[in-house]
This record gives sequence, structure tokens and C-alpha cells, in this order.
Amino acid sequence: MRGRQPLQPPTKQHEPDGQFHKYPSYRGGPTTTYGGYVWEFVGEHPLANKWGFVAQHRLVGADLVGRPLRKGEVVHHRNEVRADNRPENLEVMTASAHRAHHAKQTALANQIPLCPKAVAEALSRHRAVKPAARELGVSHGTLRLRFPELCAPHRRKSPTKIEEDPHLDEIRALSADPRVGLRQAAAQTGMSIRTFCRIAERNGIAWVKQTRSDKGRARPGGRPPAPAGSRRHEG
Ligand SMILES: [Zn+2]
Repeated sequence: MRGRQPLQPPTKQHEPDGQFHKYPSYRGGPTTTYGGYVWEFVGEHPLANKWGFVAQHRLVGADLVGRPLRKGEVVHHRNEVRADNRPENLEVMTASAHRAHHAKQTALANQIPLCPKAVAEALSRHRAVKPAARELGVSHGTLRLRFPELCAPHRRKSPTKIEEDPHLDEIRALSADPRVGLRQAAAQTGMSIRTFCRIAERNGIAWVKQTRSDKGRARPGGRPPAPAGSRRHEG
């Protein structure tokens, strides 16, 4: 259904009202991107968030149907590119129709043949679900859904869950080994030095920086590594 108003090209800027001082987030540009979406600065506007921005696809969607969007209506990107707000790429849908559409897309993706062996290999090569999924030509959601047991060890961890890191024992062992340097230990676990240190710190694993003269000797004064499991199940 086409509305009364002529279709607005997605680059049309809705006029800001000049009250920029109210919105410290405004940096002078008419649009910004966040979460893959394009946001227009509009200042005071019924749809504006507290920073004075509106999701551009919602403005174009309202233009498409010729009225303000109703509660529960969503604007779907046909090609799944969130920043592609050309009117022909957008469709105003009810939330339930939108869910049904994506459920159908997911079902279709589930029919793409994937060999568990190839999935396991891609995961061990990349040590993360996203790049492995990219290599296999599916979304990371599809991979997690179809191979939960293979993806589980690569699950993203919230900061509070980091104690369950599967590499924890490895980190303990490497930290306790005076012959292993930090750089080498991080490389061995496939982590960045920063991640390695963060996990060690969160789990009370002392990392004593080794100097050449220390190597192969006991560490006088160094905090002994925390016994395995000492920090688990606390609190
Ligand atoms: Zn959608």
C-alpha cells in the first residue's frame, strides 16, 4: 500500500529543529550508524530516542505506508543489510509476520548441506564461530543452531562466566611454568596476551613475569599459582 506522501529517498534528511545543545551526542552530521543501522538526527521528534536520533529505516517505512508506524510494526530489510534503506529494500510488517519471515529463512538455511567434519575443522582452525561460519557460507546463528555441541566450546563468554573458560587449566599450567613466557603462553592457547592476562587475573592466577636470570629457577617472593579450582564456586 502506498501512502499519500511521495516516497522519500533514504538520504533525505529530516530537518533538525536546531536544539542541538539539548543533544550532546550530536556531532554535526545528519546521520550516524549504530548496530548496523543508519540513524538520523532529528532533535525533537515523536520517534526520537533520548539522543535525538531516529532509525532511518523507520522514517522511510512510515513514508512507504504514508502514516506513522503503529506500535508493533517493524521495518524489515529485504536484503538483510541493515544500512540499506532504499524504499525498495524496506517492508513494513507486523512483528509476528516479521518473525514468521525470519523463521522461514532460518528453516531454508537449515537445508544447506553441512558436513559435521568440515564444521569441526573450520571451528578448530578459527577457534571462533563467526569466522568459521563465514568460511562455510552460513550465518553464525545457523551454525550454533545446527551444531550446538561443536559450537559450545566457542561460546562467547560474559565476564561473569569467564571462570568456566575451557582453557583455564591450560592457563594455570602455563602460568605456573617458569620456562614459558607470556607471549608464548598466549600463542599456545590461541588467545591474545590481553585476553590471557584478563582470564588469569579474573581467576586469581598469578602471572610472574620472567626475566632471563629467573628462567628455570624457582620464583623467590613470587606468589605461588592459585591451586586449581580455588576460585570456583565462590560467592
Ligand atoms: Zn527482518
